[in-house]
Amino acid sequence: MISIWTKDYIDYKLPIVNKDIETPILIIGGGISGLMCAYFLMKEKQDFILIDRNKLACGVSMYTTAQVSVAHGPIYEEISKTLGKNKAKKHFINQLEGLNLIRQIIKEEKIDCDYKEESTILYTHEEKNMKILEKQYDIIKTIYPKIFFINENKPINFPYGLEFTNQFIFNPMKYMMKIADILIKNQIPLYENSTATKIIKEEHGYKVIVNNEYSITTPKIIMTCQYPFLNPDNLYFAKLYQSKSYAISFKTNVKLRANYVSLDAPYYYFRTYDHKHLIIGGCDHYTGSNKNIEECYDTLIKKIKVLDPNAEIIHKWYAEDCISTDSLPFIGHYSNNNPNILLVTGFQKWGFTNSHIAAKKITDIILDKKVDNIYSPHRVTLFKNIKSTFRMIIHSINGLILSKIFVKKYNLNDIEIGSGKIIKYNNLNVLAYRENKNKFILLKNKCPHMGCSLIWNNADKLWECKCHGSIFDKYGKVIYGPSTQNLEVIEYKDIKKEE
Ligand SMILES: Cc1cc2nc3c(=O)[nH]c(=O)nc-3n(C[C@H](O)[C@H](O)[C@H](O)COP(=O)(O)OP(=O)(O)OC[C@H]3O[C@@H](n4cnc5c(N)ncnc54)[C@H](O)[C@@H]3O)c2cc1C
Repeated sequence: MISIWTKDYIDYKLPIVNKDIETPILIIGGGISGLMCAYFLMKEKQDFILIDRNKLACGVSMYTTAQVSVAHGPIYEEISKTLGKNKAKKHFINQLEGLNLIRQIIKEEKIDCDYKEESTILYTHEEKNMKILEKQYDIIKTIYPKIFFINENKPINFPYGLEFTNQFIFNPMKYMMKIADILIKNQIPLYENSTATKIIKEEHGYKVIVNNEYSITTPKIIMTCQYPFLNPDNLYFAKLYQSKSYAISFKTNVKLRANYVSLDAPYYYFRTYDHKHLIIGGCDHYTGSNKNIEECYDTLIKKIKVLDPNAEIIHKWYAEDCISTDSLPFIGHYSNNNPNILLVTGFQKWGFTNSHIAAKKITDIILDKKVDNIYSPHRVTLFKNIKSTFRMIIHSINGLILSKIFVKKYNLNDIEIGSGKIIKYNNLNVLAYRENKNKFILLKNKCPHMGCSLIWNNADKLWECKCHGSIFDKYGKVIYGPSTQNLEVIEYKDIKKEE
């Protein structure tokens, strides 16, 4: 799958971890969060290394739509409702700081990344969402007076909207590649194709096993690899879920003066790109929830056609991001048991402002500075938002228990070629993929992360975890976490040979 930014990727040739290493700080993950932690630590002359499972910036950060904005849907009203107005205000102030940090870095490092100032407009047709916009206005107005109520007829029609001026868009790949370039020029050790497969706690720190082979010994870990994979410590599986989101770039003659985010269901937004193209994003849903990918794209295409019946679709892509039940990210000490692991995750699909705030806060924690941190992973989140927590528990029960009970017996020959199915086979719960007329790949239906059941994604020929978002190819190889291990192979079956 490629996104609109893939063409701007620079393939830096980085080494793989091929020996045991010692380092004062290890960053796991080289997306926007890991790169920014590395950037700020480098500025503070800290000694560290960074490893990534894949190549730099090839995770969620490559599939973003990169609106850099503080207008995060209805989030401030949600936080105000569950955690109080002060926390909502603090979160807003932090987002402004994140926005300004990116601006400052672009300026100081002279990064050519198609930076363009634009408004973000939150809009609605629904009475209940109008009230949400009014409440948000009330929370924000004294901090940020550059917001206005508006309505528009063309090209997008809405009776009620809140415009946040002085936000911006940029090309995230050009930005991240320049940050990578600065790190490489400063001889920061960066490693690719190096998966942290296990973390072992030792007397004075940690041994991180890489690719199940070599070890990195370190007293401090910064974990920026999206969903935390050290379980069950701090019960992240009950506080955080992954949500899939879709995006489509398209050619059009319609010009937008701003980025438009609808508050009405189904969720979607329009983002400007250049004078010939726009991007639409949205149709978000829980990972592992059996949604048909093509139907999600169709929902967005219908919205495009309303804007411009002659629009031409260019790229379609999707990715997952981590969502906390109380709408705030997790930034700080992993748990009481593991205070020397620093965690960065839970950006709620607003990763640019949040990753910069996170990198700054993590650097301050490393430097032993006092940090005012409403994002501490120690905070109590369970049942702060009852609806969200309840939904997550139901989802997990389904993935861990129910979907394993109701598995049908199925004849291998009834599986379509090029397709996968969950079946009872020799009394085992099996993921069966049919490669051709005779060959099948049979895998254990158990995600190595926490044992959840998987589902088949026929559009991309992948197995996806029902609970926490791990993704595996048809051979069971893990390609997206939190799982750090492959699915267990039961059998490569050739029915012709057996005849
Ligand atoms: C469709 C979509 C649109 C979005 N649009 C916006 C937007 O408009 N504005 C905005 O602000 N945000 C947006 N976001 C959110 C934003 O893109 C993400 O929050 C952000 O990119 C996450 O960055 P990250 O560095 O935390 O994760 P990633 O970019 O995924 O980086 C994590 C890295 O860790 C590596 N890794 C994982 N496990 C291991 C391991 N075990 N060992 C070693 N390495 C590992 C991965 O290979 C990866 O490179 C969007 C998200 C999606 C899905």
